Amino acid sequence: MNLISKRIRGMQDILPGESEKWEYVENVLKKKSKLFGFKIIRTPVLEHTNLFERTSGETSDIVKKEMYTFLDKGERSVSLRPEGTAGVLRAVLENGLHDGNLPLKLMYVSSCYRYEKPQSGRYREFFQFGLEIFGGKSALADAEVICVAKSIFNDLGIKNLELEINAVGCKECKSAYNKALENYFIVHKENLCELCGDRLERNPMRIFDCKNDKCKNICKNAPTVLEYLCAQCALHLEHLKEYLEVFNIKYRVNPHIVRGLDYYTKTVFEFIINSGEAPLTVCGGGRYDNLSKELGGADMCAVGFGIGLERLLLIMQDQKLSFGGNSNIHVYVIPLGETCKNKSIEISQRLRNIGIATEQDIVGRNLKSQMKYANKIKCDYCIFCGNQEIENNTVKIKNMSAGNEFTLNLDEDFEKYFLNLTNSKLQ
Ligand code: ATP
Ligand code: MG
Repeated sequence: MNLISKRIRGMQDILPGESEKWEYVENVLKKKSKLFGFKIIRTPVLEHTNLFERTSGETSDIVKKEMYTFLDKGERSVSLRPEGTAGVLRAVLENGLHDGNLPLKLMYVSSCYRYEKPQSGRYREFFQFGLEIFGGKSALADAEVICVAKSIFNDLGIKNLELEINAVGCKECKSAYNKALENYFIVHKENLCELCGDRLERNPMRIFDCKNDKCKNICKNAPTVLEYLCAQCALHLEHLKEYLEVFNIKYRVNPHIVRGLDYYTKTVFEFIINSGEAPLTVCGGGRYDNLSKELGGADMCAVGFGIGLERLLLIMQDQKLSFGGNSNIHVYVIPLGETCKNKSIEISQRLRNIGIATEQDIVGRNLKSQMKYANKIKCDYCIFCGNQEIENNTVKIKNMSAGNEFTLNLDEDFEKYFLNLTNSKLQ
């Protein structure tokens, strides 16, 4: 095949067979979040570049090297969203969603774009499921978003996920801590990677995010943020721990998680899996109380998380988890002759009208190939409609897995029969 164009590196086609798994997972995510009062928001994939520069931070990996940024035809710098939070917050502020509506609980499934080196669990187009609570000052809001994530993982049956929490402090604690880090890392400067040398000058906390082994080693003995928390931030962390205990959620305080984005204050957390060679973060989140004001909006605290859907699916496949059984019945209608075609259409429509997936031949196959095709698509029932049946106002039905055949009247019993089948399959 000599296609004139191929898929862009780091991007994936999600084909039938896979797409059902995505649909199942997305349904679980949304259903669970709705139980906590979250509503869906959809925002554009393109935003003005300065939104991400301000939110992720000029020194973040995302803005420094991963963003898909280009000039549009009006010479404006625009970027494909690298994450979901910034656009959601912008939309909340721009539409005044928060006015008189706090706390506001929003969720989204968004495609995100980062120019990273493609590898397993790391793509250039990926999907994030995210939640945000705006206007929840108490650590209960932090505990609640963590609880949603945990309940989702439980519903999906995922095992061995570990929750790590930390506090990164407010502006005051951060500045004292950054000074302490500078003093520590400057001694090890020669052994840090080039990028971390730069991080040391601009934002030393970021060195904790480095995946380089040498840098990771140096980080082991660095001062921890916990020693530099102000009384308020320390209390917030204590409250979070208490609430997590009430929710019965196990956690570990890891003072070295700082998260890749600049906007976090107080709580940060990750759900990590240790199955492959390197630990993989499936869910990352935290509190970002200053971001709204920094965007020129109201003084509004916020907390949220993002789950990478590709990583979630990878883990579910690794752990051989089920993606939900198919509770739908699939019917194939076969007219026994040209004169029965219209009646077949009518029968197909009657079934579709009551929510049963129904197909019939549209490419002109003969009877034998229609039977073959019905087997190939693994339909549950075949309905045969011949002249004799039309005269008697009946159809012949074949249960494809059991192999038995029977006749049904085309009165209201016809619909009743299939509705009963669906109901019993759902139970
Ligand atoms: P990492 O440290 O693995 O690079 P990150 O800190 O950049 O992650 P976030 O910006 O917090 O990740 O994004 C939230 C979630 O989105 C991650 O936990 C992960 O599940 C997912 N994610 C991030 N980058 C990618 C990517 N390139 N491909 C697939 N999923 C991703
Ligand atoms: Mg990253």
